[in-house]
Formats: sequence, C-alpha cells, structure tokens
Amino acid sequence: MRRITLASVPGATSIAAQRWPVGCDIAIVLTGTEENREVRRRYTVRSVIEDTLVVDAVLHGHGPGSTWAAGLEVDDAVTFLGPRGEIPPPTADWVVALTDESGLPAVAALAESLERELPVFAEITDDAEVYPLPPNAPVRWLPRNGQPAGSVELLTSALDEVRPGTGTGYAYVIGESRAVVALRDSLGRFGLTRSDVYAKGYWNLNSRPTR
Ligand SMILES: Cc1cc2nc3c(=O)[nH]c(=O)nc-3n(C[C@H](O)[C@H](O)[C@H](O)COP(=O)(O)OP(=O)(O)OC[C@H]3O[C@@H](n4cnc5c(N)ncnc54)[C@H](O)[C@@H]3O)c2cc1C
Repeated sequence: MRRITLASVPGATSIAAQRWPVGCDIAIVLTGTEENREVRRRYTVRSVIEDTLVVDAVLHGHGPGSTWAAGLEVDDAVTFLGPRGEIPPPTADWVVALTDESGLPAVAALAESLERELPVFAEITDDAEVYPLPPNAPVRWLPRNGQPAGSVELLTSALDEVRPGTGTGYAYVIGESRAVVALRDSLGRFGLTRSDVYAKGYWNLNSRPTR
C-alpha cells in the first residue's frame, strides 16, 4: 500500500471547496499507458486535509494503476475526476465489514464517520501490511501468507467468527468482484438478504493485465 497526497495547483478546481462524501472515490487519468488510450483507475478518498486529498493505493504489481502508484514522485502532475459515489452509513442494529486491501481505505473512512463500532475482517498480503483503522473499527486481520489475492476462502472461513447482534444486521463487503458476490450470498446464514449488504467489487481477478 502506498499513501499518496494530492494537492490542488493554481488554476485547478480547489479541493477544499468541493464536497467529498464518505467513501467517495476519484478516477485517476493515466493517459497513454494502454496503447495510447486514456486509462482511468479508481481510488477511494481516504481523507481530505485542508486543500489535499489522501488516497492509499495497493501495489499489487500489475496494471497501470499499481505502476502509477509505485512510480509517483513528489511534484508529479496528476489528473483525476471526482468525487464519485458514496458509502451509506448503517442504520441496522448490528454491522460488520469484510474487505481485502483495496477496500481498507473505504472502510477506514466509513468507520471514521460513525459514532458506533464497525467490526472489520480484512484480508491482507501478510502481517506487514496491517493498515491503520480508527479505534472504533476492531479488526481481525487475515493474512494470505503467499496465497494469491482474489480468492474467497479466507473471508468465508472468517464468517465463523462474525458475532451477529440482535435485531437487524448490515454488512459492507468490498474486494474482488466474484469473491464479493460469493461472500454476499454466504451472509444469508446471518439472515442478511441482498438489500442488507453493501457489496462492491473493486477489482476483477481476470481483468487483462496491462503494463
Ligand atoms: C469505487 C472504487 C474504489 C477503489 N478504491 C481503491 C483504493 O482506495 N485503493 C486501491 O488500491 N484500490 C482501490 N480500488 C481498486 C482499484 O481501482 C483496482 O484494483 C484497479 O484494478 C487497479 O488497477 P490496476 O491498473 O492496478 O490493475 P488492472 O489493470 O485493473 O489489473 C491488472 C491485474 O492486476 C490484478 N489486480 C487489480 N487490482 C488488484 C488488487 N487490488 N489486488 C491484487 N490484484 C489486483 C487484476 O486482476 C489483473 O490481473 C477501488 C475500486 C473502486 C471501483
């Protein structure tokens, strides 16, 4: 994961003057990386500090987004569009978040906006990749330790540790698209229906790798 701070430049739209909803994202424009076509990749706004935006990018080693994030240097120019999207606050009696690294900035931003506890189950590469979450987000880290990203097994096994409260429940599920669908369906064991789950595929395992 690499933290990137983006600041407005004179003449550009002021970051501070915009509204940045909880869990919104920006589309970074990566011109010319894919057969000279414009390529965009989406990153969550982790926080807005004065006139800067903070995003945290997973360095997974393939693709224009990861390459951009790994190679970025201080004062490089970055073009982006946004804000886009928003993550709704939970209104149910109990709540849980299940995510991989790509959703950790969104889960952190969401937890920070809540006055209640948001228990988190998070798949990460290994123990070195734990990510700072707010104090109201107790987290169970699930290191892959050499297993490839994008499989559903670790988070599915962790469902045994989910302690649903009484009353209505709501879950946030973020990660690889097919894993997200499988997890959403598995949450039926807690009585959650599709409308009780905020399920968002943030990346696709079999998207064509590009340089
Ligand atoms: C609303 C939204 C918010 C997002 N916020 C964030 C964020 O805050 N931080 C963040 O890092 N990502 C975030 N993502 C996910 C990010 O946009 C994708 O991971 C994107 O595919 C990265 O582009 P890329 O060019 O690096 O890889 P691509 O060109 O899309 O894919 C190249 C190869 O890399 C693999 N790959 C892609 N992403 C990952 C991954 N995360 N882990 C392992 N393998 C991967 C693909 O399966 C493919 O084989 C968000 C996505 C959405 C839709």
